[in-house]
Amino acid sequence: MARAKKAITSTIAEAVVSIIKGHWVTLVNFWRPTVCERYPHKDKSLDYKPGPGYKGDFALITDKEKGRLRCIACQTCERSCPNGCIRVVPEGKGKERYPAEFYIDVGLCMNCGICVEVCPVDALTMTPDYECSVHDPRDLVRNIEQLTERGLEFDEVSRVK
Ligand code: SF4
Ligand code: SF4
Repeated sequence: MARAKKAITSTIAEAVVSIIKGHWVTLVNFWRPTVCERYPHKDKSLDYKPGPGYKGDFALITDKEKGRLRCIACQTCERSCPNGCIRVVPEGKGKERYPAEFYIDVGLCMNCGICVEVCPVDALTMTPDYECSVHDPRDLVRNIEQLTERGLEFDEVSRVK
């Protein structure tokens, strides 16, 4: 009987200590500064930028000297994409070949970067742009105008050095 009483007392004591410890941790953290951001209602002043080589949204790079896209519409990226995200519609022949249309479905993309690595002329890049959330999945399909516009900010493919 005395043994049972002792065991019960010890269990109760352990429970009380554990509750006090738990509340102490809560209390200490309650006064700490908040580190979470309420995305997408975040503080714009923080201006978060991912590091170099971040595989965010896509861009087609323009050859500024020639005033046209670097892309030669070889379709290597399209054939290499494991998820079938890319569709390139070529026009012209030989050195005059160019992409009349270029689509990338960011919603299907797994951000592997293969399409960027296989491009023979460094025409396609992934950018630090991580703001891809939309309400309609159809808005995740990038077209040639969107890809070209974003690419104007870039002269080189973004890679981790
Ligand atoms: S990053 Fe990978 S999955 Fe996404 S489009 Fe390129 S090859 Fe396809
Ligand atoms: S982006 Fe590169 S790999 Fe893709 S079609 Fe254009 S030149 Fe070819």
